[in-house]
This record gives sequence, structure tokens and C-alpha cells, in this order.
Amino acid sequence: MNEQNYTSGTKSYICGICKKKFRDYVSKKRQFCSSKCSNEAHANNRKLRGGGYSSIHKWLKRRYGKAFRCEDPRCNGITNLYEWALIKGKNYRHKRENFIMLCKSCHRKYDMTEEIKGKISRTKIRNNLQFNTNP
Ligand SMILES: [Zn+2]
Ligand SMILES: [Zn+2]
Repeated sequence: MNEQNYTSGTKSYICGICKKKFRDYVSKKRQFCSSKCSNEAHANNRKLRGGGYSSIHKWLKRRYGKAFRCEDPRCNGITNLYEWALIKGKNYRHKRENFIMLCKSCHRKYDMTEEIKGKISRTKIRNNLQFNTNP
């Protein structure tokens, strides 16, 4: 009986972050399975809006210097311009281990996911401006 009441008022959701299935009451309109996942979604939103992007790159440069090599093992070495890149699945936080150094070519491939393809032309312009400006 209890089981039936529970399922009748609930709906099966798929978490927008980890794609796990979970159940909850329809009225809650949940998008994420846990507070961890919803925090991550907020961080992603901030990232996509561009908030914090340039400040974190300034921080990386100030603290660790300019990126000077490519850490992608498949690198083909066609360019010697290097950039800091956020590691996939990590939050945009001030932590060295969340970032790797990539050459421009690998960085572009690395960041090229379906969701940001539409945004790349705009961010590309911004990145070029930012990385061509030598201090
Ligand atoms: Zn989740
Ligand atoms: Zn590379």
C-alpha cells in the first residue's frame, strides 16, 4: 500500500549531470539527483556564461606562469602556443589540479563538445585577444 502511494505521487527523473535515474515527488520538479550534482550544474552555468573565466586564467598565469607545454599524450606538436585548460568534469575553481596545459590545437579539440560548439566562435575571439596580449 505504502509502496503504491509513493510511486503514484512520484516521477522518474534522469539527473542532468550524472545521468543517473532517480525518483521523487512530481511537485519537486527535480533536475538533479543530489545536491552535489545541482552544485555542479550551477558551476557549469557560471562557466558557460563566462563568469570567472578570465580571472581564473589570470590567477593561473600569475601563480604558475604561462603554460609552456602540452600535456595531451596525443599531441601532434603542430603549434607552440600553450594555454591552461580546465580538466573535464572539474569545477572552475582555484586549484592547480583542476587544470592542465595544452597547446592551442589540443585545447580546441578538448573543448569541442556538442554543447559548446555554438559558443566557440564567440569565446575564440575572446581567447585570442587574451592570449595574444603579452604582459
Ligand atoms: Zn546526479
Ligand atoms: Zn597539444
